[in-house]
Amino acid sequence: GLGGGIIITLVLSSIGGILLTRQAMQPIEESFQRLKQFTADASHELRSPLMAIKINAELPLEYPDEIGPKDAEKFQAIASATNQMTRLTEDLLLLARTDRVSTQNWNTIDLASILDNLIQLYKPQAEVKQINLKLQLIANLQLIGDTVQLIRLFTNLVENALYYTPSQGVVEIKSSRVGSQVFIDVQDTGVGIAPEHIDKVFERFWRATQSRSYWDGGSGLGLAIAQAIAQNHGGLITVTSKLGVGSCFTVRLPAL
Ligand code: ADP
Repeated sequence: GLGGGIIITLVLSSIGGILLTRQAMQPIEESFQRLKQFTADASHELRSPLMAIKINAELPLEYPDEIGPKDAEKFQAIASATNQMTRLTEDLLLLARTDRVSTQNWNTIDLASILDNLIQLYKPQAEVKQINLKLQLIANLQLIGDTVQLIRLFTNLVENALYYTPSQGVVEIKSSRVGSQVFIDVQDTGVGIAPEHIDKVFERFWRATQSRSYWDGGSGLGLAIAQAIAQNHGGLITVTSKLGVGSCFTVRLPAL
């Protein structure tokens, strides 16, 4: 009957739609890959000239008597701007690379020891800021992945938590395991994120207006990199936050 005809037409047109979408997606996917490759190449090529500028700006600073205070100030400005650009190019390179799913350097990892080392590394910084940095781990946090990438992921989260939490606050890392997944919470009592901004924090280059400046080491790429790494490992990072109360970033990864 008429109904059957309509249903068949609908089914056929939606199959057509899927085929068309797939076909249309291919050039988009290809140009996306080219863009990523370009980003990776460009940031890689920028490293050597940046290094040359940095060395030449920092060298005169070691002989303050030979250059006047005015020139020292200028060399200092060049050196800091160069440091900032170096960090940005490194972040861009890392992002372009992590986007590619690669299991080259994967092996069995004990996340507990990675997190333990990280806490030891950031303890002094937390103490200076009078932040209570706590770690609460369950026994088995084994998974398969890239050690360097996972250290980077948690470094970015812990650095953010310490940065956006005022003195006397608490930053706590907690883990749990639900079925075949491990959950790591990086929780802070910091400034929090406004509800209208919460969807944006993982976007590249996005930073809230009150965020740390470039001079403070912020590039707006830290969370984009962390998310890319989590996804690369078959996982995901989510966030809940309340302005003026704090934020909790939850990393979910497939366990071994
Ligand atoms: P940035 O280099 O600016 O820290 P990120 O990608 O790491 O870039 O973070 C993006 C933005 O998300 C930050 O600029 C800040 O506004 C917000 N943000 C990230 N972590 C936190 C946190 N723990 N508490 C409050 N805001 C945060």
